[in-house]
Amino acid sequence: MENYSQVTKTISLERYGIKNAKVNYQLSPEALHDISIEKGLGIEASSGALAVNTGEFTGRSPKDRFIVKDAITKDKIWWGNINIPFEVDQFDKLYNKVVDYLSDKEIFVRDSYACADDDYKLSIRVINEYPWSNQFAYNMFLRPTDEELESFSPEWTVVNAPGFMAIPDADGTRQHNFAILNFTKKIALIGGTGYTGEIKKGIFSALNFILPVFKDTLPMHCSANVGKEGDTAVFFGLSGTGKTTLSTDPNRSLIGDDEHGWTKENTIFNFEGGCYAKVINLSRDNEPEIFDAIKKGAILENVILDASGHVDFEDISITQNTRVSYPIHHIENIQVPSMGKNPKNIFFLTADAFGVIPPISKLTPSQAAYHFISGYTAKVAGTEAGVKEPQPSFSACFGAPFMPLHPSKYAEMLSKKMTEAGVNVWLINTGWTGGPYGVGTRMKLKYTRAMINAVLDGHLGLYNYDDYHIHSVFGVAQPRTCPGVPTSVLSPRATWNDDEAYYTMAFKLTNAFRENFKKFEDHCSEEIRRGGPQRYAF
Ligand code: ATP
Ligand code: MN
Repeated sequence: MENYSQVTKTISLERYGIKNAKVNYQLSPEALHDISIEKGLGIEASSGALAVNTGEFTGRSPKDRFIVKDAITKDKIWWGNINIPFEVDQFDKLYNKVVDYLSDKEIFVRDSYACADDDYKLSIRVINEYPWSNQFAYNMFLRPTDEELESFSPEWTVVNAPGFMAIPDADGTRQHNFAILNFTKKIALIGGTGYTGEIKKGIFSALNFILPVFKDTLPMHCSANVGKEGDTAVFFGLSGTGKTTLSTDPNRSLIGDDEHGWTKENTIFNFEGGCYAKVINLSRDNEPEIFDAIKKGAILENVILDASGHVDFEDISITQNTRVSYPIHHIENIQVPSMGKNPKNIFFLTADAFGVIPPISKLTPSQAAYHFISGYTAKVAGTEAGVKEPQPSFSACFGAPFMPLHPSKYAEMLSKKMTEAGVNVWLINTGWTGGPYGVGTRMKLKYTRAMINAVLDGHLGLYNYDDYHIHSVFGVAQPRTCPGVPTSVLSPRATWNDDEAYYTMAFKLTNAFRENFKKFEDHCSEEIRRGGPQRYAF
């Protein structure tokens, strides 16, 4: 636990239009934990963590994420069904209704930062209806010192009112919940949903516009850690592919588990001050660092407890997207501050439910650009409302829902930085082996870890291309052997025991790649187009 002195400063919310509120400013996480329990909004698990239910929403709702179309955004945002426009006047009206709703209530307010590099720090005031949402903000954002708090001047404001229900016809929303970014007023307005991920991903999305447009910095949906020699590794991947799991490694210092910036000064920095791990099927044997981070201060979401307060991590009766948030110092081996040098290795994580992508392969620069723009995974059920069955999914930059600009903007920056830094790029399939979802099994975590370790300690990087097999369908370089991994696991075709079925499925996937890539072709050079799969079904 960090040292906590009593905060004596008081603030008024009148200037936000929130009147007569009982303001709880900058309460300690202990106090927020206790208040949540007193109010019957949570219970204490046997580990000491606070367990809450987030309500109707147990995942983000991408169809209800809007951006106000104004002078700053209108010509820069890639508008469409990811970045849905919202009218300026409509926002003002809805904002007024939300602050009216929050008036006369007991409110929890917290000042915090995003971006661990002092040169990029963004000050944020988070205004919550619920105490546990405010404790989430304590866990996930960077915590100012007492001295910083004295002179704190908030630039962005998050207004979070889970109990406020919009009326779509009057308010211009799709349904009763919404998350709206306003870059002129610097407000993230969230209502109708208690899912905490909307708070962190709201600020992430704001930074994904601010950093590339104004600060020449590439924002990345990735985790990062650093080895004893100062070698940084970065792990891109969509939800459930293993960013949090694989970056939490006792032998390497954790920089962050989800959101980073890559600066023009050849450094990377974490945006956040905490981690937000999936806990479905969590076991101490497989993931001891995350398991032990679940103690007083951590917040468990949507898990089932038995009478003695033990969590059943296999119980997904509320959602598959069960989660825990904890401040980063709940992990033992962390990098302080949360920064690193240019990455030496970049991993693209994919949970391929088709079971056809090799568990590890090395990418050429054009393949790296192609796969970054494609952002393939199979959507693992749970993190998004409405997704129950796994399905193939392409999400540009491994994070399209959070990227306000056209994907080619981020791809160009990444390609340039990767070339300048001479990074090795690896594609890791943490998904299925021995057949597709339903037939095969998920890749063993210990094998994925062994593959990543083999890269990080130089065992694979030193090999020459004779030690690789160029995959006949995907064109990627598949190592023939890897320390700690049975050779038979390295070739997906071999694990299937049915060549014809394997190729049929592989072509089904490459066709999906080709179909998806069509919308980016005009933005990409011939070289990048050549980075795609080599064979398709006709
Ligand atoms: P999000 O963006 O939603 O935070 P994430 O990329 O951080 O997602 P994780 O929280 O790391 O994803 O989730 C990966 C899940 O898959 C964990 O529950 C982990 O236990 C499980 N898993 C099973 N097999 C593997 C594997 N081979 N590699 C990585 N994770 C695996
Ligand atoms: Mn994660």
